[in-house]
Amino acid sequence: MNREEASTRALLARHARDRFHDECGVFGVHGHSEASNITYLGLYALQHRGQESAGIVSTDGHAHYVHRGMGLVADVFNEKILSRLPGRHAVGHVRYSTSGESQIRNAQPFYATTDGGSVAIAHNGNLVNARSIRRELEGRGAIFSTTADSEVIVQLLARSREKTLVERLIDALSRVKGAFSLVMLTDDSMVAARDPNGFRPLSLGRLDGAWVAASETCALDLIGASFERDLEPGEVAVVRRGRVRTLRPFKRSVRETFCVFEYIYFARPDSNLNRNNVYGFRKELGRLLAREHPVNADLVVPVLASGDPAALGYAEESGIPYEQAIIRNHFVRRTFIEPAQSIRHFGVKVKHNAVRGLLQGKRVVLVDDSIVRGTTLIKIVSMLRQTGAREVHLRISAPPTIGPCHYGIDTPTRAELIAHEHTVDEIRELMGADSLGYLSLEGLRRTTGPLKQGFCDACFSDEYPVPFETNEASPQLSLFRDIESDED
Ligand code: AMP
Repeated sequence: MNREEASTRALLARHARDRFHDECGVFGVHGHSEASNITYLGLYALQHRGQESAGIVSTDGHAHYVHRGMGLVADVFNEKILSRLPGRHAVGHVRYSTSGESQIRNAQPFYATTDGGSVAIAHNGNLVNARSIRRELEGRGAIFSTTADSEVIVQLLARSREKTLVERLIDALSRVKGAFSLVMLTDDSMVAARDPNGFRPLSLGRLDGAWVAASETCALDLIGASFERDLEPGEVAVVRRGRVRTLRPFKRSVRETFCVFEYIYFARPDSNLNRNNVYGFRKELGRLLAREHPVNADLVVPVLASGDPAALGYAEESGIPYEQAIIRNHFVRRTFIEPAQSIRHFGVKVKHNAVRGLLQGKRVVLVDDSIVRGTTLIKIVSMLRQTGAREVHLRISAPPTIGPCHYGIDTPTRAELIAHEHTVDEIRELMGADSLGYLSLEGLRRTTGPLKQGFCDACFSDEYPVPFETNEASPQLSLFRDIESDED
């Protein structure tokens, strides 16, 4: 390889890492005297969807009040800050992004004052044509202040020739492709919208006469709101003066492709997705896993917490006793949350510890929901061996992860996915396990069959329902580094 090729490759690799999508949770409340306090609680329940930044924008109809910060919801907000976010309407956002984009300027909600009024937008999902729209707008003089794909929605809205802010939002959303579940706040209304494929969840609830929108129903539970319904794919719901008006402005022909990984890993098990309980679904996957990959063993052990319902299902179906033989330190953040590789390894080490007395001389079935890079399980298997386990049989309640997500789940590049690079037997060998069984794609599809929903399982099948732009097309991002929030 000559120098020019090498530098092009390095550039492409950097762009590949510079993905500007993120995992998020959104929340909104319209018509409640404690709007920002309730939004704070809603975000608290959605914390698992994003731990890097949090933000709330509220309005009293005269002005919008903003607070955003890096860190967990509890770190970013306190009573004093919430008291300075007045008004009966609010939207909030929690976010986790990939390395290099961990900056306060990318924290949402985004807000802007347009000639049609002020808006704040909290967006979950990844827009697959954001790069080309951004390039086009920049070519016409637009100045972007973030590196997040969601900003193109705000920019398109600000430039739209439509009259009302709702029409402008619809105009903007008609131009973007990919995944959006979003909540927008104007002076007097809240708008909740889902893309026509319905990649990400978004539910509506009611609380003391107010309307609430939340990424997951667990947030409605926490604030004591009643579940009203899920927003349908392609639906735009406009809440104003206590009423909801439903619009369906997008093409109807699109097939629903809800993210199956929300069911497998991402959503909280106490949430219902499309009225289906996530916990029950995961347990069912565990049962099927036991039928697909039986083994003679003494114990079924979950990798807490993600593998727990599937481990219970496996244990019930196989009749092998379930034991929580790996204890998790609850105060360590999720493995993926630390942007730097070195910290992630550290996280794995401090996160789990084995219960020695339970494992000595035992044949163990170790159940987890997925293997991405493989770093977590390699360490856990070796820990089990060191603790005296005689055999370790790995069981994964999802098919091998072979493709990155382009619709809003943070996954590393294809080359970093262990199942893209290796066969199942090679992975078993690398993990140091006695056997390894993944749930089959057919089995997963059979389990989702009765859920009355269409699914995207691109990370397992490599069948992407919406074409995405390649990284080569990406503009150079992050020209300015925010030294206040940069950690390195
Ligand atoms: P790895 O060590 O890279 O194989 O990570 C796999 C573990 O991370 C699995 O046990 C999952 O519970 C969890 N996981 C999978 N996908 C994600 C994601 N997108 N964000 C955070 N954690 C994830």
